[in-house]
Amino acid sequence: MPTIVVATGNAHKVTEIAAALGAALDSPLAGVRFIAVHELVGAYTDPVEDGASFEDNAAIKARAAQAATGLPALADDSGLVVDALNGAPGIYSARFAGVGHDDAANNAKLLAELEGVTERRARFVSCLVLVGLDALLPGQPDYLAVCGACEGRIAAGPRGSNGFGYDPLFLPDVAPGRSMAELTLAEKTAISHRGAALRQLLTHLNAR
Ligand code: IMP
Repeated sequence: MPTIVVATGNAHKVTEIAAALGAALDSPLAGVRFIAVHELVGAYTDPVEDGASFEDNAAIKARAAQAATGLPALADDSGLVVDALNGAPGIYSARFAGVGHDDAANNAKLLAELEGVTERRARFVSCLVLVGLDALLPGQPDYLAVCGACEGRIAAGPRGSNGFGYDPLFLPDVAPGRSMAELTLAEKTAISHRGAALRQLLTHLNAR
């Protein structure tokens, strides 16, 4: 079965990616299996994400997964960019509260840093890098990078239990009255940063 390895340990990301790329009927990747690198390689060690941008870090993760499996690899590097914090947590979103801390700790730190701040504009950003697809689909590029964003504001407190990460604190402009964690997977993908990046990826692949 044609397979693309997804360079993440985040099962939510694999679900969102597989739903958008593997299930869409207009997708050149319809029927492709998307599987997390950690499921294929038992002792997989995540590479150091020391790039200077979301795309750099996505490329580091994709190339590492490709090298470990010999398969085409897709990586997402994403995060939350908060204007009042000069763009933080940005590429450090996963470890905002420190390495090894969880989503709850990151969210608590975000709320603490925005205590008393009324200007709460923010955006989620996702950059996807797909490498080695030419081995699966001749004519496709060896390296493809796309980025998407979703504008919104940081809520005063968490709401909802869907999704992951900062979703309970993010109020997307296009979903008035609801946090990202109050949207279904389909609703989130329709408006999210990762959804936007995935649609761009499909556009590039379909143009070939
Ligand atoms: P990465 O896995 O190194 O790309 O880190 C991404 C981090 O950004 C995650 O751990 C979350 O904290 C945050 N993040 C990225 N995408 C989302 C999303 O769709 N919802 C909520 N948080 C996200």
